[in-house]
Amino acid sequence: MNALALPPDIDARVLRGEPMSKHTSWHVGGPADLFFKPLNAEELAQFIRSLAPDTPVLWIGLGSNLLVRDGGVRGAVIDTHGGLGELERLSENEVWCGAGVACAKLAKQCVKWGLGPAEFFAGIPGTFGGALAMNAGAFGGETWAHVVSVATLDRQGIRRERPAGDYSVGYRHVSGPENEGFLGAKLRFEQREQASQEDIRLLLARRKASQPIGAWSCGSVFTNPPGDHAARLIESAGLKGTVLGGAKVSPMHANFIVNDGTASAADIERLIEHVMHIVEQRHGVRLTTEVRIVGEAARSADSPARQEGRV
Ligand SMILES: Cc1cc2nc3c(=O)[nH]c(=O)nc-3n(C[C@H](O)[C@H](O)[C@H](O)COP(=O)(O)OP(=O)(O)OC[C@H]3O[C@@H](n4cnc5c(N)ncnc54)[C@H](O)[C@@H]3O)c2cc1C
Repeated sequence: MNALALPPDIDARVLRGEPMSKHTSWHVGGPADLFFKPLNAEELAQFIRSLAPDTPVLWIGLGSNLLVRDGGVRGAVIDTHGGLGELERLSENEVWCGAGVACAKLAKQCVKWGLGPAEFFAGIPGTFGGALAMNAGAFGGETWAHVVSVATLDRQGIRRERPAGDYSVGYRHVSGPENEGFLGAKLRFEQREQASQEDIRLLLARRKASQPIGAWSCGSVFTNPPGDHAARLIESAGLKGTVLGGAKVSPMHANFIVNDGTASAADIERLIEHVMHIVEQRHGVRLTTEVRIVGEAARSADSPARQEGRV
């Protein structure tokens, strides 16, 4: 990778060969060629403009919905968490939220402001940018139900303001202008003075009782097919507890795959494929992954399993 045309203080913070396992909730993933965590949108635009036009760019938040393969990511990874962190009330009902704000913080702040329904954001352990990209939702709420407009940055480093209508949005699906990342969005909520931090605590307690919270996972691996639940299909196919290398279908919630601390991305991906195959055989339903799978597979000579002598 050629040297980047960046001021030395910014260039010094661009990491080369950064292990993506440090930035994903599954704790797997090989090195990114370039990894940058901007302090603000201006720095981010500078970084993007310094890249060769054909360098692929991957925007990430907290990596809580991301399976990065063991060979890592070619090109540049932009980590928005914290850097794009503005959260402010614009008017009685409107809020600006930067892409790098943790969804839990958005939920708590909206409760303080007496705005809602935003408590559901507390159940999403990612950034607001990731929630925009995924149309993340929980407890009956969905991100894009509140979006008025978004700000994006394109591959030339140009900032754009776009109305929500520029995007086609569905269940865990968002499509719109290509090669643009989200900087943040203007959101609209209702005035809800009765919302409280206690509501958030109760929602999270409910979730903790049914999901392996705390284990290394990416939450639900598969989207629910129309009229059914992926977890039900996986469980009734007898797959709960299935182990492949260090990856396991959670005995607590069948739509979660957990890393016992030794899994490679390849273990997880193979277990995903195995679950899809068996569910299709038993139920005739082809499951679709909710998690985003990115990067290159490890060359067999340097795969983590081989290095550890497991193959
Ligand atoms: C225990 C657990 C529970 C979960 N429960 C839920 C749940 O109830 N509901 C739910 O919807 N999800 C849930 N998830 C999944 C995950 O938290 C969400 O999908 C979340 O929105 C991902 O945000 P992130 O910042 O981690 O994004 P990442 O995982 O970093 O990225 C996810 C995708 O978004 C893209 N992306 C990230 N930031 C940007 C940006 N600024 N601009 C453009 N693209 C971007 C990435 O390229 C990638 O394609 C859960 C995950 C875990 C680990």
